[in-house]
Amino acid sequence: MSNHLFDAFRSRMPAPDRLLMETDDGRSLTYGDMLARSAQLAHALLQLDVEPGDRVAVQVEKSPEAVLLYLACLRAGAVFLPLNTAYTLAELEYFFGDAAPRLVVCDPARAADIGALAEKSGAVTVTLGRNGEGSLTDQASRLPADFHDVVRAKDDLAAILYTSGTTGRSKGAMLSHENLASNARVLVDHWHFTADDVLIHALPIFHTHGLFVATNVVLMAGASMLFEQKFDPARIISLLPRATALMGVPTFYVRLLQQDGLDREAARTIRLFISGSAPLLAETHKAWRARTGHAILERYGMTETNMNTSNPYDGERRAGTVGFPLPGVALRIADPDTGRPLAQGEVGMIEVRGPNVFGGYWRMPEKTKAEFRADGFFITGDLGIVDADGYVHIVGRGKDLIISGGYNIYPKELESEIDALDGVSESAVIGVAHPDFGEGVTAVVVRSPASNITGAEILGAIAERVAKYKHPKRVIFVDELPRNTMGKVQKNLLRDTYKGLYT
Ligand code: ATP
Ligand code: MG
Repeated sequence: MSNHLFDAFRSRMPAPDRLLMETDDGRSLTYGDMLARSAQLAHALLQLDVEPGDRVAVQVEKSPEAVLLYLACLRAGAVFLPLNTAYTLAELEYFFGDAAPRLVVCDPARAADIGALAEKSGAVTVTLGRNGEGSLTDQASRLPADFHDVVRAKDDLAAILYTSGTTGRSKGAMLSHENLASNARVLVDHWHFTADDVLIHALPIFHTHGLFVATNVVLMAGASMLFEQKFDPARIISLLPRATALMGVPTFYVRLLQQDGLDREAARTIRLFISGSAPLLAETHKAWRARTGHAILERYGMTETNMNTSNPYDGERRAGTVGFPLPGVALRIADPDTGRPLAQGEVGMIEVRGPNVFGGYWRMPEKTKAEFRADGFFITGDLGIVDADGYVHIVGRGKDLIISGGYNIYPKELESEIDALDGVSESAVIGVAHPDFGEGVTAVVVRSPASNITGAEILGAIAERVAKYKHPKRVIFVDELPRNTMGKVQKNLLRDTYKGLYT
């Protein structure tokens, strides 16, 4: 009888006095502390009437205690349900209504508002602040430091994680103990993590990247992390010499490249830089290599599936690709409409199957059914191709596909062309309602500093390189692209802003 995921961490745990994490305000937590304090929190959850399978909704600032609370939920058999700290009360109302949590954990400063809301959906509220203070930790501090973990099998739910809401309303992905355990094991192996690793952790922990990729990998390797409240590029540079690995979203790398102190010497102890959650520009990959001597390892995953593909640890890390399917993950490119597998080299829907893939969307049986093929493959919603060497390239999201004059146009192809021009920093190509074409191809472009490249120049350069039906009808210049906290470009906002452009 065991607790599937927590036992997996426990079995790989180093000596109790080994460091699990150190925070930017000088606090440290050993593996022994982790065991004791997650036990206390697990007792507190039981006292608060949390039963196995109950959801614990958590909207708190990043802190070691928030990680301990995640572990306490595993140990108590509860379902951990983290929520973006940016969510407003109106948004929380949707999540509470949808998830029906037994317990809500929130920041002390928001306790009155959130408490009232939680009560409406029948939940009790306790507090946890960014320094670990609050009613939850007060209660836990008086409770025993050992705990009989609740029995949880492979398929029992460990967490419900809501998707980022980039393409529409967030959906709750139901992740089992085995979904998380299998992926963490594979990543530890694949990326060669050991107990000697020190990971710089500057990601939020309400998203799969910071929570399951970063934290679970560290726990599964018995490694340690420098746990940063937020991403501060100058500070990250100063931490590099104490670390062996960094996981970041592409924006981290772009912003670190703007720091003077980034060079080979600063990165000399680092063995691995990893990027994901959004596409890393080939240009960033190249610039990083020139400055530090390191090829960033890009990987691809999503809330519903954990990680699916990764560039190799040994072997060529190919810029602009997300590498190969991870061990145990089956990946195919299929016709988006029929699901028929396509030949190598054709663009189509990326579909995946494996122990990493979630069981379904919380309380959305119809949606779940629609997103799985009969043979168990999950339809990711991302379009891609596999090149002759087997590297997977993401071409964009199915929902971003532009259909203009009856032709399919993949924004990524145009974005790559535009981004490669001198004077362009980055771009986003979107489809905007057009009376003649259905959708008009529209390029939203950020110039590089001091550039005054014009729309006509961009169109002139593109005209020589891509078929006429793909040419943008308009080029719009902006100072920056709208991005969410994970560095994802929010094309839905752009489409909304420019919706009247051609009418
Ligand atoms: P929603 O599903 O609510 O619209 P979302 O898909 O952005 O939001 P996440 O699960 O956080 O929510 O993100 C997964 C998506 O992120 C993938 O489907 C893919 O589009 C994108 N992604 C992740 N890693 C990469 C990468 N390395 N390159 C390109 N895209 C990536
Ligand atoms: Mg998604």
